[in-house]
Formats: sequence, C-alpha cells, structure tokens
Amino acid sequence: MSLRGGMFFQIEITTKCNYRCFYCAGRQMRQRHMDEALFDGILDRIPPGRHTVSLQGEGEPTVHPRFWSFVDQVARRGHIPYTITNGSLIEPELAHRRFPRLGVSLDTLNAAEAQRIGRLKLPEMLANLDDLVRLMGPGRIVLHTVDYGQDLSPVRSFARVRGLRHIIQPLQRKEDYARLYPGLVPEATRPVAAAGPCRYLVGNFMRFFNIEGLEFPCCFIKDASGYAGITDLRQRMRAGEVPEVCRGCAEIPRAGWASSAFRIAKTRYN
Ligand code: SF4
Ligand code: SF4
Repeated sequence: MSLRGGMFFQIEITTKCNYRCFYCAGRQMRQRHMDEALFDGILDRIPPGRHTVSLQGEGEPTVHPRFWSFVDQVARRGHIPYTITNGSLIEPELAHRRFPRLGVSLDTLNAAEAQRIGRLKLPEMLANLDDLVRLMGPGRIVLHTVDYGQDLSPVRSFARVRGLRHIIQPLQRKEDYARLYPGLVPEATRPVAAAGPCRYLVGNFMRFFNIEGLEFPCCFIKDASGYAGITDLRQRMRAGEVPEVCRGCAEIPRAGWASSAFRIAKTRYN
C-alpha cells in the first residue's frame, strides 16, 4: 500500500464491552479479544513514521486484559497512542502517563436514561472523568456524544463548564448500523451509482484493522462478507458501482461531489 506519515490507524482490539449501547454494532458480533500475535502483526504492517494509532473498535478497549501493554507497544514503536473509552474502567493515573490525548464517551447525565440506552456505569464513568480532567487537564480530553435524539443541553453544558472539546455525532445511517435501530434514523438515501471513489479510498489518510486483522479504508464496514479489499472497492467505485459493503454510507460521492471529496481527502488527522 502507498501510505504516508501522520496517518490515523484504528485497531479493534476487542468486541467485548461492559455496556450495552443500543446503537452498538459490536453487541451483535462474536465476543472476543484480539490476541497478542495478531496485534503485533498489525503493528508490523503500519508503515514507518509517527502515526496516531487508536485502540478503538466495536468493543470497549479497556476490557482487554493486555490493553496497557498494547498502549505501551504503540508508543515504543514511535507512534502516538489514542483510544476512545466509555470511561468506566479506565485507570486515570495510567491514562495520564500514557496518552497525550484521550477520547471519552458520554451520551447523557441522566442515570435512568443511561441505564435505558445501555450505558450501564454512569457513576463510575463520571468519577473517572473527574480524575482524568484533574490529572490530564481539559485540553487533553475529548468528549464524544452520540446524538440519538436525547436532550443534549446537559452534556453540552457539562463539557463547556469543564473546558472539554466536545464532538457530537448523529446516529450512523449506514445499513450496517441502521438496522440496529429501525425507525430512529431516516432511511438512508442510496445512490445507485458512485461518482468515483470516496475520500477514504482516494486519500489514504486512515486505516481500520478489525478484530480479525482485516484492513479497511474506514471504520464503517461492519458486515465484511463480500469485502474483497481496498483496491477492489476503489476500482468498483471508479467504475460507478456502489459496493455492497458501502450501502447507505454518507461518504459515497454523488455526481458533482467527487472533486470536493478529493479536497477533503487531503485533510490529515493529526
Ligand atoms: S461503550 Fe462503546 S463498545 Fe461499549 S456498547 Fe457502547 S458503543 Fe459499544
Ligand atoms: S463509501 Fe463509506 S463504507 Fe465505503 S469505503 Fe468509503 S467510507 Fe468506507
């Protein structure tokens, strides 16, 4: 592959989690941890350079028994470790010493609502988040919220008061995910033809390695049956086809979008 320095790599080290978020594709997957040999092999496949390597997928990274050792391996190879955690099991002292920046997810401050949507350990998470902010300072923590239609004002003001960067994402509309919450997102408009490859296929700015070590151009492909690799996707979209594994993806370029998609593709993650 022709990759460059300063890319964003994501490695799904586990599909297990101590939460049951209703929108999580990982809850339907086989529950398992990535073994050490596979993890090492993936690090070997990352080209030389100083890249951001995020331990992040459809499971909670900190439930992996080798989580901290994996973080150390990333750093030893000269990369920048990152993760997004639900925060319930994170050890704030270790996080402070190991991560330049850390993502923490929080959808609601309401305990009953958190329980209802499957975010089961709100008090533990909030206590850890307090410690993380105290140790790391607000500038090193990014708060991630999924907007599923809840009242966002309490979480927004929580982030603002603490000076945290706050990223709010809508529920994913791609078919791989949307089937988990029928009726909650408008049915994705499905272009029957692609006006060329998407920015992830053009730009080579990120790679996602799933629990089996398969390499993807993005983190949105959850049903990989029918996936024949990045070159195949690129060729098919160049020929105007919408590959099965991309159905419903908002990144599929439509007529007139291709040139702007290419421009965005030049954006780096770090
Ligand atoms: S915390 Fe993350 S991995 Fe766990 S169920 Fe929720 S979305 Fe999935
Ligand atoms: S169209 Fe979407 S799912 Fe397909 S490769 Fe691009 S970003 Fe990934």
